[in-house]
Formats: sequence, C-alpha cells, structure tokens
Amino acid sequence: MAKVEKDISREKSGQLFEEAKGYFPGGVNSPVRAFKSVYGTPLFIERGDKAHLWDADGNEFIDYCCSWGPLILGHNNDAVREAVAEQLHKGLSFGAPTALENKLASLIINNNQYLEKIRFVSSGTEAVMSAIRLARGYTKRDKIVKFEGCYHGHSDALLVKAGSGLVTFGETSSAGVPKAFAEETIVIALNDYEALKQVFADFKDQIATVIIEGVPANNGLLMQDREYVQFLREITQENGALLIFDEVITGFRLGFEGAARYYDVKPDIITYGKIIGGGMPVGAYGASNELMSHISPDGGVYQAGTLSGNPVAMSAGIAALSILAQDGFYENLEAVTQKFVQEIQAYIAQKEYRVKVFTIGSIFWFAFTDQDKIQRADEIVHESMEQYKVMHRELLNRGIYFGPSGYEVGFISAAHTEEDLSKTIIALQESLDVVF
Ligand code: PLP
Repeated sequence: MAKVEKDISREKSGQLFEEAKGYFPGGVNSPVRAFKSVYGTPLFIERGDKAHLWDADGNEFIDYCCSWGPLILGHNNDAVREAVAEQLHKGLSFGAPTALENKLASLIINNNQYLEKIRFVSSGTEAVMSAIRLARGYTKRDKIVKFEGCYHGHSDALLVKAGSGLVTFGETSSAGVPKAFAEETIVIALNDYEALKQVFADFKDQIATVIIEGVPANNGLLMQDREYVQFLREITQENGALLIFDEVITGFRLGFEGAARYYDVKPDIITYGKIIGGGMPVGAYGASNELMSHISPDGGVYQAGTLSGNPVAMSAGIAALSILAQDGFYENLEAVTQKFVQEIQAYIAQKEYRVKVFTIGSIFWFAFTDQDKIQRADEIVHESMEQYKVMHRELLNRGIYFGPSGYEVGFISAAHTEEDLSKTIIALQESLDVVF
C-alpha cells in the first residue's frame, strides 16, 4: 500500500504552537506533548467525543492515547459529564470534607481486598511522593529502591536513573535534584533476582521501600513474571522493607484490584491516579489501617492539599468507577483488546514484519523487535524508535492518534466501537507496510 503522500494539515496547530512557545517552556505544559520524538508540530486538540478527537485544523482521529490512560470510558462520557455538571452548580471547592469523598473512597475500598484506608491527592506524582514519605516515616529508614524503566512521577527522589553495573547511586535524570537526595535512591534492573538479593545484602537495614509499577508501562510494556513479583514481596518482607505498587496506570485498568490481583501479591502501599479521577486531576495512596494511622493529623507523617478530594473531581471519579464496577466491564474490554491485538498480530506474522505487539488488559505496545519478551529497560532496541516515528506519522495521516513516543503504551477504551477498531486495523496495516 502506498504512503499517503500529503501529511494532514497542521496550519492552525502550528500557529498555536508558535504562540505557546512564547508562554511555556518548549511550548507545552508536560514535555512529551511537544512531539519531540515524532514528526511534526504537536496537534492542538479542540474536543473529544467517545473514542474520537478533533484538532484545531478540524482533523478527526480515533484516539489510543486516551489522555495517557485516564479515559477508560472515552471522551465526553454521559454519566461523567452529567455528574461534573451537577457538581458545578453546587460549588467548585470548599477545602472541607464532603460526602463525595466518602462515596469515592467506599467504591474503591469496598471493592479492593488490598486496602483499608486511602488518602486523596491531586496527581499520581503526589500520590507516589506521599507513599514514599509514609514508607520512610514508618520504617525510620531512608533508602528507597526503584527499577530502571519505571516512572513514578516527577518528585526528586524518583528522578534517578540506573547507570551500568548492578547498582548505581546518585545519577540523576534531572538537573535540580540534589545529589544527596539521589544518593538515597538505588536503581536496579527489572526481573533481576541477583540484583535484588545484592541490594538487600548491601543495605539490609537501610531500605525503607521498594517501589515498582504494577506492570511497568512507561518505558514500553515490560511484563514481569508472577514469580519475580512474588519474590519481591518475600524479600521485602524478610528485610522489613515496605513494598509499594505504583498503580497509577494499572489501577482500575486491569480491574478494580489492579496488578495486585493480577499477580496475587499484596503490597504494603498502593498508589493510584489517572482513571480514579474520571479525567479530572486526582491521585490517591492507600494501605492498611495500621500503616495509614501514621499519616497526619493522627500520625507524624505530614501530607496535605488545598484541592485534595476536590468535589468536582470526586464526582467525576464516582461516575466513572460506578460504571467500571458493573459486572463484565473488564472482561468485555479485555476481549475487545485481545481481538484487536490478535488481528494485527496475524497481519504482522503473515508479512513477517519485525514488530511485536505486547498486551495486558486493555493496554498494548508496539515494539519494533523480534524478541518474544521484553522485561527490562535495557532490552528495548532504541534505534527502532525511528520506525515508530514513521508509523506514528502514517497513522496520523490515516486518522489514528497514538501517543507521540514509541516508549508509550496505547489504551483501548469502552468507547472504541467495532467500526473504530476495524478502521484502525486497516490503518495499522497500511502504516506498517510503509515502515517496512
Ligand atoms: N506513576 C505512574 C506509573 C505513572 O504512569 C505516572 C504518570 O504517567 C505517574 C506516577 C505520575 O502521575 P501524574 O502525571 O498524575 O503526576
């Protein structure tokens, strides 16, 4: 199939981007939006409805970015919109408790065997940052262990990357993070039993917590074996360190009990974001009654927020989670995703293209490789991102919107129709024909 010769018009988006550069660093309010890893200027979006997006030039797309995960019900969901509209008339923020917070918390806790109490915050970053503080306050230890390739938001302690060797200290991924902070963060490779054993041998009584993404999905989709995650649980327990599952992506994406249920592993603390706000800014962290009793005002670990538990955001979350709680919601979404992925995999196999589609729940990731498994960040073929760039442009030209980076996963929402998915399969086939 021939390449679409003419790229979509980005005239208005281009003008808006030029204007934005005068206001924001790099013209954006979050770096990946700048389209640095794909072709062309970023698209400025005007509106979304169900699985579709429209940009400032009037181009229409089927959206697989879904605002980076929150929109599991698609754009402009009737129930979410109406719940938000109703709350708008009652007030935007009170800085005082509301019944709405109880309602969203009860939906979460009553459907989740891994939590007894939660605290709402306003973003995933805040949730993880607070969970780390709780772990440190509770264990009275300072060091934390994270994995190369896992993203946990942009707080200082977590902006540390691994270098070569088993364990790397103090190499930050961001200017502005004091070396002293970074030195408290140990980064090791995923799926490496020896690295974990070594880290606990070296720093036995100093590690407050090990944090892992439920299923690492910020640097490709790095699926971990159940045995490995179970080992992680055992070794943390044996050494008096807490285990944090960062479920900002996987929470309410893999089901109400997220990755904890998927692995059948009970972490000590779970963090959430994205889906629980139904598209509004919400995060949360939760744990046992005992652990959460250490949070202020009763405990000594301080954490607060002017807009925490914001009533508009709570209303959106309640409406969204009430739909997700219905029987069969996740089974249906997963079946739809499986069918979509299998169809494209069949085409890839038939053409013998060097690309794999990894998937879990309603998440998928295209990896330009012939490896059957990618479980660690250093197994990703970075040169293959050039192929993603070509695919991304060809998809946009065919009305399909994927995240503007080959390291990002795609999401399927309940709003994607059979027609949307069939159109996407054809567009993917044509785009892959251009790539290869
Ligand atoms: N943790 C994970 C696993 C994430 O994917 C993200 C964001 O993508 C965060 C934390 C940070 O969340 P937020 O962007 O809401 O601050």
